[in-house]
Amino acid sequence: MLLTGGRVIDPANRFDAVADVLVVDGKIAALGPDLAPDAPKDAQHVEAKGLVVCPGLIDLHAHLREPGQSAKETIATGTASAAQGGFTSVVCMPNTSPAIDNPGTVALIRERAQRESKINVFVAGAITKNIAGEELAPIGSLKTAGVIAITDDGHCVQNNDLMRRALEYARMFDLPVMDHCQDYSIVTDGVMHEGYWSAVLGLRGWPASGEELIVSRNILLAELTGAHVHCQHLSSSGSVQLLREAKKRGIPVSGEACPHHFTLTDTGLAGSEKFWSTDGKEIMAGPLAERPRWPSYDTNFKMNPPLRSAADRAAIIDGLADGTLEIISSDHAPHCDYEKEVEFDYAPFGIVGFETELALSLMQLYHSKKMSLSDLIAKFTVAPARLLRLPGKGTLGVGADADLTVFDPGQEWTYQPGASAGKSRNSPFAGWAMKGKARATIANGAIAWQDLN
Ligand SMILES: [Zn+2]
Repeated sequence: MLLTGGRVIDPANRFDAVADVLVVDGKIAALGPDLAPDAPKDAQHVEAKGLVVCPGLIDLHAHLREPGQSAKETIATGTASAAQGGFTSVVCMPNTSPAIDNPGTVALIRERAQRESKINVFVAGAITKNIAGEELAPIGSLKTAGVIAITDDGHCVQNNDLMRRALEYARMFDLPVMDHCQDYSIVTDGVMHEGYWSAVLGLRGWPASGEELIVSRNILLAELTGAHVHCQHLSSSGSVQLLREAKKRGIPVSGEACPHHFTLTDTGLAGSEKFWSTDGKEIMAGPLAERPRWPSYDTNFKMNPPLRSAADRAAIIDGLADGTLEIISSDHAPHCDYEKEVEFDYAPFGIVGFETELALSLMQLYHSKKMSLSDLIAKFTVAPARLLRLPGKGTLGVGADADLTVFDPGQEWTYQPGASAGKSRNSPFAGWAMKGKARATIANGAIAWQDLN
């Protein structure tokens, strides 16, 4: 395959120039100007003029819902949606049914992905058996079965000694530990950010300190054990500050952020009118009257951790811009319509995210001039590949796997959940004017999805 004329951006090699990319046998064979004479006569040609070509995007936080919850999503539909969003690799979370806490379930997912997915699926195993937080999962056997990290995502290990043991084992097996940071004793049954709007709307609060307590715990345990802890989907200003200080002291911790946390705020729970006239004013071009509408108490604005204040949103963006948060992920969490169409308290947490992730990141970070295109791409490529130690991923170096994403950073389009390749429609971004779109997703040298003509 020969990709010609695109602006090739490869943050891992600090490369940013118009160039061709030659792919042979699923690997990057060459990168440079005018490679047509080097290409075999029958090479598949991808014209990328005017588009960005970068290492295949990696989403290290997704819920593919298999086994056990295939009404919400399957490996086939979830990865099709990810490919449509520009992703060549996804990491699936272990809170399935049964949980991914044993080698058999890991094997099942890897086999199914082999058959049904056009992109790479990496598996995260559980920290504890049945994600119950009581007894360690067989971490060594999980590693042998092929997991690339462990996490109890959706849940959080509350027992600090158990978490310490998990970190010690993980270090022994050279596995990164990822953590969903939530202190149950202070969050209890909170459903939205604790603040002005939770008081006005009469909804139980999920205070930012509930996240920050566990971020602090993780920093202390990373220092104690020397194991790397990655804090998932951080949402609060305090968490960013804790991480920033810990990294300055050389503690092995890292963090990720999701587009909904750096785009929306808890004002969204009060309905579109309130949001667009206050926190949402600046985030989209065009007159307020033409922007999408939603009611108050819309359950598509319910996720865990919750949408927070405008100050928290600004702190997440600052953290991404200064490198405190190295990675962007979707936390793609599909749910059926009937599950979300209930009173706010009873709705499940989570939203779909693969197909809006790249556009929202470009809008809030690149088009808003907070970050260069290369720095933004690094958060989807070299940074997650490094954390998860995925050889051959996240780079366009010669010999690397031919995972490539071709996208148009300036393309304007409207997101319609109904047009998604995924099974579920639970997105707060329905009808949003987006800027930036994937045009082709190439995994291991084969086109997984494309919209080039
Ligand atoms: Zn989570």
